[in-house]
Amino acid sequence: MNELDETHDAGRSSWVGGAEPGSDFPVQNLPLGIFSEAKGLRRPGVAIGDYILDLAAIAEAGLLDEEWSEDFKQPVLNAWLARGAQAHRELRLRLSELLSDERYRDDLEVHLIGHSEVHMHLPCLVGDYTDFYVGIHHATNVGKQFRPDNPLLPNYKYVPIGYHGRSSSVRASGHPVVRPCGQRKPPDAEVPEYGPSRRLDYELELGIWIARGNSLCEPIPIAEAAEHIAGYCLLNDWSARDLQAWEYQPLGPFLAKNFLTSVSPWVVTAQALAPFRAPMPERPPGDPKPLPYLDDPNSDSAALAIETEATLSTEAMRDSGLAPHRLSRGSAASAMYWSAAQIVAHHSSNGCNLQPGDLIGTGTLSTDSDEGLGSLIEISRGGSAPVSLPNGETRGFLEDGDEVTLRAWCERDGAVRIGLGECSGRVLPASAS
Ligand code: CA
Repeated sequence: MNELDETHDAGRSSWVGGAEPGSDFPVQNLPLGIFSEAKGLRRPGVAIGDYILDLAAIAEAGLLDEEWSEDFKQPVLNAWLARGAQAHRELRLRLSELLSDERYRDDLEVHLIGHSEVHMHLPCLVGDYTDFYVGIHHATNVGKQFRPDNPLLPNYKYVPIGYHGRSSSVRASGHPVVRPCGQRKPPDAEVPEYGPSRRLDYELELGIWIARGNSLCEPIPIAEAAEHIAGYCLLNDWSARDLQAWEYQPLGPFLAKNFLTSVSPWVVTAQALAPFRAPMPERPPGDPKPLPYLDDPNSDSAALAIETEATLSTEAMRDSGLAPHRLSRGSAASAMYWSAAQIVAHHSSNGCNLQPGDLIGTGTLSTDSDEGLGSLIEISRGGSAPVSLPNGETRGFLEDGDEVTLRAWCERDGAVRIGLGECSGRVLPASAS
């Protein structure tokens, strides 16, 4: 699975502008997404350099396997993702050939559209969205704020913890973040009141897109779980901490989370990430081994060496031309106690059926250092140690006008750097109620 082939060759380059090494989208990446031009239909495309290659158009022109044509006429990628890993590998081989061989330039150039000329949409119709909590440093940091002596609950090292989220409010990067209203009860208040959240936060996560699903009552074995993953994106699980603190017991996250979840628009495929697979971090001495159904025979390549970054720009910073301020910089591989394969195997272990285009969040990814914290509640210590910004402003939580941007990329000696793109959102005032 996910072996290296000629598509990963660091010597291969594309004739398309902007696809040079160092960009997010060289010919070694080839992520899929759904785009539209002004007044145009939504359709699938592949990112290459500064452009998007129109998959429906090149299928129509006879440049792709005819069997795939119907999938590329769809406004979402679900049907394509359902085909599974073998077809995904074949498309990648073909696109890599087309976009690196000058002989195809005349045929393809007419089907390239600049990124600046398109609007990006959600890549899939998300049937179900589940958010996990596998970032162990995040779970520990947040747990400490509630239970200083016992931050991790006893199940954490046995069960990949998750909850069912809300698929209807998942949006592609750029969608505005309208400050949610809800019940909030400050610790010193006797009763809750209803109003705009005062503790709005972001959560830096990876999103996992499901390829082939599983039938109801037929769990996905851990050894096969990676083959059910089509690819990855960035995910921001916007969170209203004051609403969350009041509502979360006993059934977990609800209205504090489901007002919006943002994802980066590109499905960076499992195949593109093959050069960046890494061993799962060693579990500390004394930690339990995963139970057999989660014990991955491929654990030496189950982690992903993905670097992440979160930045913040306030309205005042933008008005005075200041660059966004970096809030964190970290590595997904060191943040995750459970791998994506373990997440998929666990989710289906009771017979729950995953479906093509389902979206799974990893949970907030924080490293064990102060530079790598994936949410403001951690960075500002629950608001008590606000972040200082370059223009003298401070932030415990997000204010109206603030824009958070998540980025991620992979780099390794001998491989060409690839990027996951961006996941951005700007906070707007609460709707009048
Ligand atoms: Ca989350």
